[in-house]
Parts: sequence; structure tokens; C-alpha cells
Amino acid sequence: MSGRKEFILTLEGVNKAFEGFKAINELNFYMDAGELRVIIGPNGAGKSSMLDLITGRTRPDTGRIEFGKNTDLTRLNEYEINRLGIGRKFQTPSVYTDHTVFENVLLSLKGPRSVFSSLFHRTTAAQRSRIDEVLNTVGLAARADWKAGALSHGQKQWLEIGMLIAQDPKLLLVDEPAAGMTDEETHKTGQLLLSLEGKHSIVVIEHDMTFVRQLARKVTVLHQGTVLCEGTVDQVQNNERVIEVYLGRKHEPKRHL
Ligand code: ADP
Ligand code: MG
Repeated sequence: MSGRKEFILTLEGVNKAFEGFKAINELNFYMDAGELRVIIGPNGAGKSSMLDLITGRTRPDTGRIEFGKNTDLTRLNEYEINRLGIGRKFQTPSVYTDHTVFENVLLSLKGPRSVFSSLFHRTTAAQRSRIDEVLNTVGLAARADWKAGALSHGQKQWLEIGMLIAQDPKLLLVDEPAAGMTDEETHKTGQLLLSLEGKHSIVVIEHDMTFVRQLARKVTVLHQGTVLCEGTVDQVQNNERVIEVYLGRKHEPKRHL
């Protein structure tokens, strides 16, 4: 046995082209179990495409994608990958707007239950206490009886994060959670993600640098489908290649970094 910590996620030599356009190009990415990793990069850098590949939404043309020590994700479908404990939050919230906040979390709890049986049979005490716990974590306990449609954009995002947590994923993939949020909501989202650290391994894609700084964890910069650099927030913000990518083009407006 080597003393090396096991990677929860390994991508090695991964390529993915769409009609000749290389969205992902020789991508290598390694993440330790328990990490909270932030991925940044300009629009079109391949960040969401990388999550598509991990979650089985698309298949790599070449390369290895492994979960833990020896689970080859490229051989599994989206459903199987989700069942392994990989949960993904897309950029836009997708909650059941006509159902309450409580019911939304109930519907996402693990277990062999149809939507019908979830909503029309009595919930067990264990389910209720798990749902309360999740709603407390995401700060929506006081909104449990609200229709999800009545929540603010930020609250819907937190509810959806709650629905993922309810499934107790080992790896949580969160794509631009702060998009469209107010500064205060963004800050709360940062606190929420930090509170989940240790319980889940987490990948957060984001380009709001105030938010990235709040998380203050290892940052991976993606550019043209490949890793441009990795390090602390300060290291990547002072990296010449990163500055070039974000600020280098003289006649374009300054990008968000
Ligand atoms: P990011 O999330 O970093 O902004 P994306 O991963 O969404 O970037 O996109 C990277 C590039 O790959 C873009 O040019 C996008 O148009 C292209 N792309 C991503 N997914 C697909 C797809 N399913 N079909 C065609 N092109 C795609
Ligand atoms: Mg994206």
C-alpha cells in the first residue's frame, strides 16, 4: 500500500470534438477525495463540456475518466454514474415549481419510490428528519411549505443544491451556482459550499472572482479545453498565461477576472 491519497476523480488525455471543434483537448485533471475544487475559465473554455463527460452525458473520443480507484466512467451511462454517487447541478435551476420546497426534497431522496408514492403516502419520521436537515443546511427550513415557484432565483438554486445533497453524493458537480445571484446570495452560496466541504468532494465552476476568493481553495484554470494552470487564487490571478487569456486582447473589453 502506498501512502498516496486516492484520487476521487481522474481525467487523463481526454479529448472531445464536436464536428471537428475540439471542446476538450488533452485534458488532465486530478482531484483528491474530500477536496473542494474551483474551476474557472473564459466562456467556451470547455468547463460544462468537462462535466458532461464526467456525468456520461457525452462520451470522450479518447482518454481515461475514472471515479475512485478503478471505476471507468466512460463505460457507464448517466443513470449508472449518478447511482455511483455523482450529482450534478446545472446552471439554471430546475425545481418542481408547483410543489412545496419540502416535497421537492422528498422527491429527490434516495430509494425506490415513484413521484406518486412520494407525494401521496405518508412520509416516515426518518424521511422528515432528513428533509429538515437538508433544508437547514441550505437555509430554507422556514420556507418548507412554500411553493418552489415562489422562491427567489437564489433560493431556487439552494433548493436544487439541497435536492442533490439529499441523495448524499460522494462527488458534487456545481456549474456556475452564483450566476444571476445578488452579491448577498452569492456570499451565502459560498458559505453553503464551504459548509459541505468534507462531507462531499465538490467541483464548483465559477467565474465571479469575489466568489472564488471567498471559497479560497485550489483553482484550476481551463482554456481551450485544457488546463492552463492550477494553484491558489493568488497564484492563478498572477499567472502570466492566465492574465494573457483574460486580459491580453487589446481591443476587447476587459474580461471578468
Ligand atoms: P464553458 O462551459 O466553459 O463556457 P462549454 O463546455 O459549454 O464551455 O463549451 C465549450 C465549447 O464546446 C463551445 O464552443 C461549445 O459550443 C462547444 N460544445 C459544448 N457542448 C457541445 C455539444 N453538445 N455540441 C456541440 N458543441 C458543443
Ligand atoms: Mg458552461
